[in-house]
Amino acid sequence: MQFLSEFLEQAIACDLYRRTVTCDPVAPGHVRINGQTYLLLASNNYLGLTHHPELQQAAVKATLTYGTGSGGSRLTTGTHPLFDELEPALARFKETEAALVFNTGYMANLGVISALAGPDDVIFSDELNHASIIDGCRLSRAQTVIYRHADMADLHGLLQGTACRGKRLIVTDGVFSMDGDIAPLPVIAGLAEKYHALLIVDDAHATGVLGPGGQGTAAHFGIKHKVQVQIGTLSKALGAEGGFVAGSKELIEYIKNKARSFIFSTALAPATIAAALAALRQLSAGPDMVNKLSENANYVRSLLQAAGMPVPGGVTPIIPIMVGEAGAAVRLADELYKQGIIITAIRPPTVPCGTSRLRLTVITAHERDELRQAVEAITAKARQFGMVVG
Ligand code: PMP
Repeated sequence: MQFLSEFLEQAIACDLYRRTVTCDPVAPGHVRINGQTYLLLASNNYLGLTHHPELQQAAVKATLTYGTGSGGSRLTTGTHPLFDELEPALARFKETEAALVFNTGYMANLGVISALAGPDDVIFSDELNHASIIDGCRLSRAQTVIYRHADMADLHGLLQGTACRGKRLIVTDGVFSMDGDIAPLPVIAGLAEKYHALLIVDDAHATGVLGPGGQGTAAHFGIKHKVQVQIGTLSKALGAEGGFVAGSKELIEYIKNKARSFIFSTALAPATIAAALAALRQLSAGPDMVNKLSENANYVRSLLQAAGMPVPGGVTPIIPIMVGEAGAAVRLADELYKQGIIITAIRPPTVPCGTSRLRLTVITAHERDELRQAVEAITAKARQFGMVVG
């Protein structure tokens, strides 16, 4: 068992050791740790829905009505009546024929990609795609061809130059989780059409965030009909838990019969499904939440940029502050933590070496004043560390 200690010592030596921290979520955007309250600029609870009274009450009512667990997998006895409401509601939200819920977004990517692609097929995958996409590609045993991040000339060249006996598939994040940039979907969709490739978009960070009513990346670009397979999560902006795939009825029936991560796991609990349904009701009630999110994101991004911080342009609530070395990113995050601000340091292997960063995320529940004060604290520390470029 010596390999265990060798691995852990190496991780400590390289500033790559990871630990879980118990965060008591007192309210969206704030957590309590060891009795102290922190401003949380590191959450995917984009619309603050985790604490919305309607979601909480729906979860309680579902538990009292149907119990705490589903007690079975979806194809046996786990499909409780709330699934019959949520899946059509997701299809209406995405304006597709049908939708299917998975236990997590991770399992949705894993199951959908490995169900759609096989050893004769070729998958073209953006180099910054999420780990669950990478794992789905591996599990499929298809040849996976990685194109440079959002580089459409590279994708085009690879589509042209890669021989394929079976199907071609292109898979991309809609919003990239570590950089917050949006995939150039209209160009990708054009290439998919030209080369008869199936297009899969993972909208984990775009669901409830981008496009009219938070419908996602394809809706943001007005090309919903061009993306055959849309994946999303219920765990981020929707404040619940789970993943889903939306598309044609036939696609959903196929996935239901083929995706192993769907078939061989116990269905989600009634409380979770009820919360997700209530979240969709909130979203359909009006665009206010989605607009407020985008206003908060623009506010913080422009304050950081005006202060000379190394922050790329963008419109999503994921705002990377590029630091470079893993050690520097961890030190900066630690210093901010001491001041009551939580921003996650992201290091290899999550991002390439030399691109460690603080990954700041904004949510609707953040007030302008606390955001401004946080930016001032970040900038002051970064200046002390010699990181301010302006
Ligand atoms: N895709 C992306 C781009 C993600 O960032 C994540 C979560 N980090 C997932 C999929 C997985 O979603 P879930 O957390 O629901 O498993």
